Amino acid sequence: MLQEENIKNKTDKFIVVTYNLSQFTHYEAGSSGKCPHCQHIVFFNTPREGKIVLPTGGIQYLDTKLSTESEDEREKVFVYSSQCPNCKKPIVVAKIEIEEKPPVYRLVHPFNVVRTAPSEVPEEIREDFLEAAVLPVSEKASAALSRRCLQHLLTERGYKGKDLNEQIEKVVKDLPPRIAENLDAVRVIGNFAAHPIKSKQTGLIVDVEPEEANWTLDVLEELFEYFYVQPKKAEEKRKRLEEKLKEIGKPPLKKP
Ligand SMILES: [Zn+2]
Repeated sequence: MLQEENIKNKTDKFIVVTYNLSQFTHYEAGSSGKCPHCQHIVFFNTPREGKIVLPTGGIQYLDTKLSTESEDEREKVFVYSSQCPNCKKPIVVAKIEIEEKPPVYRLVHPFNVVRTAPSEVPEEIREDFLEAAVLPVSEKASAALSRRCLQHLLTERGYKGKDLNEQIEKVVKDLPPRIAENLDAVRVIGNFAAHPIKSKQTGLIVDVEPEEANWTLDVLEELFEYFYVQPKKAEEKRKRLEEKLKEIGKPPLKKP
């Protein structure tokens, strides 16, 4: 129990750190982030190395790191791994550096961030989200779908506008600061100013920034929680309280 408590405390602290624009989760051992298997916010552990049993009966331990580069040294790949202290599963990441561009991080194992959408989220929005979540192979397609999903969600919640950019501008005024900041980063990372078409025709497949696809999905998860899951929980709590008041013969609560 104590251990779980610890993780929880760290969680509160880390949401802020992890979602800072400059600090994406890259899953290195010793860093913090959301586990792609179990979705807990954790400190990633140093992984156990794999081993093979030799024909002679001995055991050979294998290195957990690998690096390789092209002949002209313009393309470099570093593979490293870590382990989640919560679900104990291994995570393998490839860091790819091509020429002078910023490095791109790709999950090797699990192949996808495991994502689910809460049952409280309306069906049409859930479908877009889950489809976007299984598409990291095509970042462009994933980002297009998650932008469309975001637009549906904001429209459904009453934030209408001539494009997604305007819808985001409206909703951030009503959101808790942390979520507002993360949502605003969707615009910044998505570079909507340079790609106004992304914001106007959200389902359109156009170039994306390397982190855009996963970032938008992360923010959608936060919005699901805020707009659908939390209000449902509050409503259930209220109902239980009202039943209790009735039982003891007190007048019902005032309407919220
Ligand atoms: Zn895990």
